[in-house]
Amino acid sequence: MRTTTVVIGAGHAGLAMSRCLADRSIDHVLLERGEVANTWKTERWDSLRLLTPNWQSRLPGYQYQGDDPDGFRTMPQTIDFIERYANVISAPVRTNITVTSVRRNNDGYEVATNQGDWQCRTVVLATGACNVAKIPAVAAGLPSSIATLTPIQYRNPDQLEPGGVMVVGASASGTQIAAEIHRSGRPVTLSLGEHVRVPRVYRGRDIKKWMDACGVLDEFYTEVDNLDRVRNVPSLQLAGSDDRRTVDLNSLTDIGVKLVGRLAGIANGKAQFSGSLRNLCEMADLKMNRLLDRIDEWVADNLGNGEVDPRHRFDPTRVEASPPLGMDLTNGEIKTVIWATGFRPDFSWLDVPAFDRKGRLRHDGGVVESPGMYLMGIPFLRRRKSSLIDGAGDDARDLSAHLAAHLDGRAVVPSACYEEQAAGGAI
Ligand SMILES: Cc1cc2nc3c(=O)[nH]c(=O)nc-3n(C[C@H](O)[C@H](O)[C@H](O)COP(=O)(O)OP(=O)(O)OC[C@H]3O[C@@H](n4cnc5c(N)ncnc54)[C@H](O)[C@@H]3O)c2cc1C
Repeated sequence: MRTTTVVIGAGHAGLAMSRCLADRSIDHVLLERGEVANTWKTERWDSLRLLTPNWQSRLPGYQYQGDDPDGFRTMPQTIDFIERYANVISAPVRTNITVTSVRRNNDGYEVATNQGDWQCRTVVLATGACNVAKIPAVAAGLPSSIATLTPIQYRNPDQLEPGGVMVVGASASGTQIAAEIHRSGRPVTLSLGEHVRVPRVYRGRDIKKWMDACGVLDEFYTEVDNLDRVRNVPSLQLAGSDDRRTVDLNSLTDIGVKLVGRLAGIANGKAQFSGSLRNLCEMADLKMNRLLDRIDEWVADNLGNGEVDPRHRFDPTRVEASPPLGMDLTNGEIKTVIWATGFRPDFSWLDVPAFDRKGRLRHDGGVVESPGMYLMGIPFLRRRKSSLIDGAGDDARDLSAHLAAHLDGRAVVPSACYEEQAAGGAI
């Protein structure tokens, strides 16, 4: 089988790219190992709601039309939203086809699948950023009596044995899961490292509204000092709920979750926590206040007095004077450990010489170091919002422009130059 472009993955990122390719009349197909929105159907916990408000899901040619723009989608609503998008744009999706390898040939690429091979000139990798849950090496020391789960496997507290739970990692997944499990009556210890604290609502408006307005989410990958670092910054401590509550460490302490430092090791059945808990929390408070300062500056420059609630600051994160530095994991108190320690993409099936020493795919803003290959949906791929539903449109417009130039044999200019052309797109 032959086509011009194979897009691998039919999540929102692959679909956004499909729409942009169609706008350019580029013949293509999307190969999806499951169904449209597969990861939202198979890899998320039951109570999860998007932490981005409904309005913040603008895709090329499609956006929220309902009467609750500030609400937060449940998983069924998220799936419905993405499935509708696939229908609206008539995306040429072929479901239940797993790509098993991609190799370069003279003309472009050979894409092998469990249902035959495809020849194409260009490939778009839209297989997601969260294929594999990262589990730290210290996990090897965990006593075998303790059950373990990752956020990809976790569905709800009924899955867990009665008894204590240690959640490792305090970003969006870890804090939400810790709160839910604690409410189910199981004592929860939350071990935390670097985290990003933000309030759900500031000065009367949703934090995402402010971040969108003051340009934080549009920051471009060529504008940041340490791209490697920002690509690995943990997700915001945020949750979507009807009461717009903030899920930060103080709110967890209030309901009885116990905070401990970073899980530094497990030896002889004993967990060892670093003594940096206070520093980590102070750092997160400091960074939150910097973001709030930036919002305040934007308000001063752009909104009249009285248009929004007054400037204020939140209480610092409360930390015990002497948080525990160790915990016995053999006395039966902890029955389950949840590794909420982040995710990574899986490109083990990709057979091109474009990986660095650490096994990371080399790319310049999504233009992979393999001619005619493109990447979508990775944190800070091109912009701070790149891994969000709302970020896929701008990236797809930029990268489809680059892809079209590649097909035309035009001189390929640096990837960053394609940003300007994308302005004023189809949303
Ligand atoms: C817990 C969690 C909460 C999130 N909350 C939000 C949120 O509130 N708002 C927001 O905007 N974003 C959120 N995200 C981030 C982001 O939207 C998701 O990571 C999103 O799924 C990424 O979209 P994608 O299209 O790049 O990848 P995916 O949705 O993961 O789609 C990739 C597709 O590729 C398919 N695939 C993978 N490998 C192959 C293969 N070899 N062959 C064929 N098909 C393959 C998969 O089945 C999948 O359907 C969240 C992510 C997670 C993990």
